[in-house]
Amino acid sequence: MKRKLLNNLLSAVIACCATSAFSQSPPHWDHGEQATWWAIQDTTQVPPLSFPFAECGVGQHQSPVDLASATIDETELNSLEISYPVDNNPVFNNTGHAVQVNTSTNYPGALKVGEESFPLIQLHFHAPSEHVVGNTKFPAELHYVHVKNDGRLVVLAVAVNLGEENPTFQTILDNTPHAAGKNPNSGLQINPAALLPTLDQPIKYFTLAGSLTTPPCSEGVQWYILPKMITISEAQLNQLKTFYTDNNRLPQNLNGRSLLSKE
Ligand SMILES: [Zn+2]
Repeated sequence: MKRKLLNNLLSAVIACCATSAFSQSPPHWDHGEQATWWAIQDTTQVPPLSFPFAECGVGQHQSPVDLASATIDETELNSLEISYPVDNNPVFNNTGHAVQVNTSTNYPGALKVGEESFPLIQLHFHAPSEHVVGNTKFPAELHYVHVKNDGRLVVLAVAVNLGEENPTFQTILDNTPHAAGKNPNSGLQINPAALLPTLDQPIKYFTLAGSLTTPPCSEGVQWYILPKMITISEAQLNQLKTFYTDNNRLPQNLNGRSLLSKE
């Protein structure tokens, strides 16, 4: 009897996992319907798994936020160290939602928060900005995405204003495919640090707990937002918009979260 139950359980597990292993890619979404991302259904799954983006609606720690509405809590915070050496084999990636650069396998660049190091896996752009300050949006926003091998995600956000053009950004624009897909063998190098503003030492920042800003809107993402901006030219912004425009999620409720600031 026991054996039979176990076999039943095993076949249920196999059925379960075979289904998920062979399930379709996540359902289509776009920024225009962000108010109802939570309601998008995956018709290949049964409830509750059929709402893969539910967290976009029910999450209480969602990103982005309006930085002006946050209570700034100045606390003793970890120091940040940014180490982004030149990447010799970056992948220029049009994700279908953003212009992105994936760093190469074993790229050593990382964001160090206190004693913990978070490897840089990709950087991408939103236009206009996702984080806002009151009524102010910036022309674009750069996200450096880091993942530690325990799965924790840290994003460093930089507001992008109009001004001097940025040559590294131009290389990214000129080598990203116009249709969704990757350009893995450009033979070009990218210096991710060339997209950073001039940093004070110690690095000043704002930080808060948040989420991915695209479906599935997973929480547990720690955000670090630099108070200084970088610039790109108007022509570069227009070129970015030929890929995607309005690929920004609107500000989400803070629900009591504090924005901490490191001076
Ligand atoms: Zn982003």
